[in-house]
Amino acid sequence: MSIEPQPYIDGVLSGDTRALAKTITLIESALPEHQKAAKVILDELLPHTGRAVRLGITGVPGVGKSTFIESLGTMLVGEGYRVGVLAIDPSSRRSGGSILADKTRMEKLSTELNAFIRPSPSGNTLGGVARKTRETMLVCEAAGFDVMIIETVGVGQSETAVASMVDFFLVLMIAGAGDEIQGIKKGIIELADAIAVNKADGDNIEKAMAARKQYETALHFLSPVTLTWSPPVLTCNSLDETLAGIRAIWDTVLDHREKFTATGELAEKRRRQALDWMWDLIHEGLRDRFHSHPEIKKHLPRFLREVEGGTAAPTVTASELLFLLDNSGTV
Ligand code: GDP
Repeated sequence: MSIEPQPYIDGVLSGDTRALAKTITLIESALPEHQKAAKVILDELLPHTGRAVRLGITGVPGVGKSTFIESLGTMLVGEGYRVGVLAIDPSSRRSGGSILADKTRMEKLSTELNAFIRPSPSGNTLGGVARKTRETMLVCEAAGFDVMIIETVGVGQSETAVASMVDFFLVLMIAGAGDEIQGIKKGIIELADAIAVNKADGDNIEKAMAARKQYETALHFLSPVTLTWSPPVLTCNSLDETLAGIRAIWDTVLDHREKFTATGELAEKRRRQALDWMWDLIHEGLRDRFHSHPEIKKHLPRFLREVEGGTAAPTVTASELLFLLDNSGTV
């Protein structure tokens, strides 16, 4: 049964949340006819995207991401913005639940009419999850969302995927949790447009200030992202009802946006991201073709056994498998 894309397109463009949710379901579906419709819908919606502020947020579990997003999102909704929150969590399949699946997370924001919260799509590969999240972000933009927040857990490779789809990448840290766990060594701070030391409150203020100094020093040794922008280190208390720290961080995001728009760097960044997106799709497509190719599927187990058993060389086997892909007449 083929799906008529036009009602989805019209629904999303009119800002209808039900049409938006149904479109996202198509994007996340593995069924070929859903994928086909999703592609047509996305192609039609793309010209209506690009206006939103795209903000990526990462940090190790417990750093306060959902508390921070709850406060920031509620503040922005109060100022008249429409806010979407999406997650990339490639570990969700294994742990059986997404980082956003817990109903208690972002309780207040989730009841706001102008907020849309969507947990991480499931998927076998980070590439697949990232693709669906990026497409969902664009569909939300076409539906009129002004701020898109993409959250990810600060472990593994998902930060790079998020950084490659947002305008501003915020790294949340806490004092005293150990730099290694928090990603100093993994190069996460090299992706940061700003670092925020969260939980700078109560007995923790002094430690947070010390951590801030330490991260400032660490950033000092990295060359600035551009001449226009040196990533600042801020402190924040996400539970503070005055929202002072949250507001300062949002002002930083807006300041960055203004400067990057004026210099043309925002447009340039998005052009680069479009190329990265295309390459991701090509690589993902090639991988899918390889694994779904009938001849390859038939022979792969034997080839794997032979390489594992040392009776065939990896080089020769790889060439033979790629030869099968090239010579099927269907690719
Ligand atoms: P996530 O795993 O990164 O999403 O972290 P959560 O937002 O779930 O926060 C983990 C815990 O830290 C919760 O108990 C929060 O109430 C608490 N928390 C979050 N932000 C702050 C903060 O700024 N100050 C303090 N004192 N606690 C916080």
